[in-house]
Amino acid sequence: MNVGKSISLGAPTLGKEEKQALCAVVDSGWLTMGEHVSAFEHTFAELHQAEKAVAVNSCTAGLHLCLLGSGIGPGDEVLVPSLTFVATAGAVRYVGAKPVFVDIERDDLPHIALSDAAARCTARTRAVIVMHYGGYVADLPAWREFADSRGLLLIEDAAHAPAVGEVGRLSDAAAFSFFSNKNMTTAEGGMVLARDRSVLERIRLLRSHGMTTNTLDRTRGHAYTYDVTALGYNYRLDELRAAMGLMQISRLLQWNGQRRELASLYRAHIREHLPEISIPFTHEWDTAAHLMPILLPAYTDRERVMAHLRSAGIQTSIHYPPVHLFSYYRNQFPDYALPHTEAFSSRELSLPIHPGLSTSDVEKVVSALRDAL
Ligand SMILES: *Cc1c(COP(=O)(O)O)cnc(C)c1O
Repeated sequence: MNVGKSISLGAPTLGKEEKQALCAVVDSGWLTMGEHVSAFEHTFAELHQAEKAVAVNSCTAGLHLCLLGSGIGPGDEVLVPSLTFVATAGAVRYVGAKPVFVDIERDDLPHIALSDAAARCTARTRAVIVMHYGGYVADLPAWREFADSRGLLLIEDAAHAPAVGEVGRLSDAAAFSFFSNKNMTTAEGGMVLARDRSVLERIRLLRSHGMTTNTLDRTRGHAYTYDVTALGYNYRLDELRAAMGLMQISRLLQWNGQRRELASLYRAHIREHLPEISIPFTHEWDTAAHLMPILLPAYTDRERVMAHLRSAGIQTSIHYPPVHLFSYYRNQFPDYALPHTEAFSSRELSLPIHPGLSTSDVEKVVSALRDAL
């Protein structure tokens, strides 16, 4: 069988602009924490109607600093989804706090559930991390109220949802990812927003060893020495990545729009040809359309469906295996059950979605899926 061009799950959009931006940084001779990083932070903040942002070398580092900068530590509990990438929970462990896994609302709304979160609150609960699954924005006003009424911090794992809806605007802190398969990329990289200026400045300090001045200031003679006022990390972003990020961010809104159009097309084709498949969220949902999740009919052999699609040159994935079932967490929290998360995860399949897909690619995926079923 001639499979033709293969259709990847998610592919970065890269070209001449990125190459030129990278070459310009090499030619400049200044490789890290310089003007590109500042400009990238500024542009990202503006896009999210924030005053300032702090660039970091991954979303995972960003989540760690959101918790650390907010003063969360040993003895504290943080409510987290289990239907997420493991980094959401890992960051809670980095600061010595306990992740408390919360179930999702339901099959067609796989965000962490308000009622289950409320039921799992204790006197030790300090924060809740919401994750905008697939780019579909969680009900931030409701979570803000949830957090305020209990004196908790609201933190967003916004890895899937840059520049959409009210993401980054209602929470205490938000972390974004520029990993290669995200809506915009710097290969590796991330960004943090925080609404309290002193928390954001603390995050900036912790990003670079807790040092009070940076190399650029010292090189320019603005400062001759520095103090270290906290135990910080090296979570800095470099100039090459920031220059690439500036190119990517200028097209982010357009790409998010293309992703939404592809998602609508998938919905229309699936509704017409595969009514037994359900698709989470509604058609009008605020979304960056990072993923294209579908739910296969119960008792479908998902491995075989994936193998069939692979043989047709179509890459698929599962988002996500529940975090509470990974050995590391299961050993700490045995017999922990989240029935809705587990049921969703057992039927979920993520179809290819990225700005490089054409409408005929979408038709090809849906028709291969039909053959497979
Ligand atoms: C990708 C991702 C992360 C981690 O991002 P990195 O930049 O790779 O550290 C965290 N949370 C979610 C939901 C993700 O998808």
